[in-house]
Amino acid sequence: QPKDAAKPKLVVGSDAAFAPFEFVENGKPTGFDVDLITALCEEAGYELDFRNMNFDGLIPALQTGQIDAAVSGMSINEERKQVVNFTDPYYKSGLIVAVQAKNNDIKGFDDLKGKKIAVQSGTTGAKMAEKVTTKDKIVYFSNSDQVLLDLKNGSVDAVINDYPVLKYFMDKVAKNDVKLVGEKLTSEDYGIAVPKNKTEVLEKLNAALKKIKENGKYAEIYKKWFNEEP
Ligand code: GLN
Repeated sequence: QPKDAAKPKLVVGSDAAFAPFEFVENGKPTGFDVDLITALCEEAGYELDFRNMNFDGLIPALQTGQIDAAVSGMSINEERKQVVNFTDPYYKSGLIVAVQAKNNDIKGFDDLKGKKIAVQSGTTGAKMAEKVTTKDKIVYFSNSDQVLLDLKNGSVDAVINDYPVLKYFMDKVAKNDVKLVGEKLTSEDYGIAVPKNKTEVLEKLNAALKKIKENGKYAEIYKKWFNEEP
C-alpha cells in the first residue's frame, strides 16, 4: 500500500523568527521545534502542514480551530492553560535581560525601571517587562528578530527574552555587541499547544514525544541544535 496515502494532516502554527527553535533559512522553516514536530508527526502518523504566523496570533488560531497545534517556543503557563492544552514539556527555558555590551548601568532586572525595553507582543517576556516599567517605555514588536536587532543597533536600552534565543543571537549575529545581565528571571517549560477539544491530537503527540525520548531521536535533535546532551 502507498506509504503516505491515508495520513491525516496536522496543521501546525509557528512564528518562525525565534532561532534556534524556528526560523526560515533558504525559504524553508528550520530549527529545533521544526525537527521536533517533524519527528513527532512521523511517529504519530500525521502529515505535517507547517504555517508561519505571528506569535500573538497562535492562541487565537488554536481557539478558532484554524490550526491543530502550535510549536513556537511557547512556555506552558496557567494563563494559557485556561484556553489551550499543552503537551508534556519538551524544553526547559527561562527569561533573561540583555543590554548593549557597552551599557554599564543596567546590571539586572531591577535597573530596568524607566528604561526603554523591547519585547515581543504576547510573550512571557512582555509580561515581565510590564512588571518593571510603564507601558509607554516598552516597545512591542510582533516579530522577535526585530526585538533583537533593535537592541543590537541601540534603539532600545534592553530586551527581555528567552535565554536560549538570546544566547544563539549573540553567538551567531550580535557577537560582542550584546551581553546578558543578571540571573535568569524565570524557569519556563516549552510545550506544544493544542486546542482544548482536540484531545486525540494531544494524546498522540504526548505518546510520540515519549517514544522519541526513549528511542534516542529527541536526543539526536537536541544535540544537533544545542551541541549537548539533553
Ligand atoms: N517562551 C516565550 C513565551 O512563551 C516566548 C515565545 C516566543 O517568542 N516564540 O511567551
